[in-house]
Amino acid sequence: MIKDLAVFAKKTGVKYFMISYTDLFGVQRAKLVPTQAIADMQVEGAGFAGFATWLDFTPAHPDMLAVPDPSSVMQLPWKPEVAWVAANCVMEGEDVAQAPRNLLRRLIDDAGAEGMHVKTGIEAEFFLLSPDGSQISDEYDTAAKPCYDQQAVMRRYDVIKEICDYMLEMGWGPYQNDHEDANGQFEMNWEFDDALATADKHSFFKFMTKSVAEKHGFRATFMPKPVEGLTGNGCHAHISVWDAPGSQAKKNMFATTPSSETQTSELGLSEKGRYFLGGLMTHAPALTAVTNPTVNSYKRLNAPRTLSGATWAPNTVTWTGNNRTHMVRIPGPGRFELRLADGATNPYLLQAVIIAAGLSGVRSKADPGKRYDIDMYAKGHTVRGATRLPLNMLDALRAYDKDKVLKDAMGKEFSNAYLKLKMEEWNSFISHFSSWEKENTLDI
Ligand SMILES: [Mg+2]
Repeated sequence: MIKDLAVFAKKTGVKYFMISYTDLFGVQRAKLVPTQAIADMQVEGAGFAGFATWLDFTPAHPDMLAVPDPSSVMQLPWKPEVAWVAANCVMEGEDVAQAPRNLLRRLIDDAGAEGMHVKTGIEAEFFLLSPDGSQISDEYDTAAKPCYDQQAVMRRYDVIKEICDYMLEMGWGPYQNDHEDANGQFEMNWEFDDALATADKHSFFKFMTKSVAEKHGFRATFMPKPVEGLTGNGCHAHISVWDAPGSQAKKNMFATTPSSETQTSELGLSEKGRYFLGGLMTHAPALTAVTNPTVNSYKRLNAPRTLSGATWAPNTVTWTGNNRTHMVRIPGPGRFELRLADGATNPYLLQAVIIAAGLSGVRSKADPGKRYDIDMYAKGHTVRGATRLPLNMLDALRAYDKDKVLKDAMGKEFSNAYLKLKMEEWNSFISHFSSWEKENTLDI
């Protein structure tokens, strides 16, 4: 693990560090610091005016310092003289509680104190568009069922290969890449890791994918529903909980042991796993405000069927075995997949809200409810009483505001700041005039 950035620079020939933090809306903010200044910066942090980014501050607040975490440093494989390093936000000697990476670190500590170490893998889908974002970059990518399209993935081989090579170089353990279910859409998978490491990699993956796409004359987007009528960008999360962090992890606490729990377990999920799942199910409407954070997110959730025949996104709070039509899928023993989040989710807040909801489920021994082994897209109407996911961003924000347990677990300072800025965003959206209104209202 890297401990000293100046030593790291000497060894690698890095000339500049990007000291980077992620704000509440998931935007990455950075200062470029020359190597000769990095030793001081590692101790004191780089100064930012917090209010100029999506954090709930005013110009009257003191400087916010972004203190780099050397264990997160990554040399840009496409520009090796620069290294990216994730930073923790500090103000007047205290961690800024609303800052997403700090919130995640606190929740990891909370879970660790109860002997639980969350590991996750994520599937960050994206589209490659033309540089102005107006159309799919590949004019021949028009198949009605483009998923796993061999010809189409090879037409973008240069981009996919470059990103995958970089992940190999950085030791992420990438293992597969494919064309996804929408025209112009791709997915690249790498190995799961501790929640904080996954959040850092998720952030860097978005930065890297956008950078490499730009280099090739394209625009990569993780927007939840960038093209009307096509499948949206999900960000499915595979979750398991272990007895120790990092490489010390030996026992998967979500997996049943044949002797102890097979009588009571479902689908190889231990009692603890079941309670954690219960927490996600209980808090689902509220946590949607974080997993699906934009106006556009709700065009992916609750979407009508796409041209390919599936939405791949849930619309109700239900769980099942190896079946992709529910909010949670248990594909095999010892882990489950939360299929709710989309490409707009903040990498740190996604992990934080999973841990907050899961931990609250374990503490309260939450029941995940009945398992439904049906095709929810075809037979969803037969399920009585399943909770619907919020229909829009306002519903989600209101659900979050009402969920006192989740709000407390995420912390008052974060919850107040997030709700305030997101409500302002909703108000900005709802007060803008759209062409739809004129088309449908002018002659009334
Ligand atoms: Mg996918």
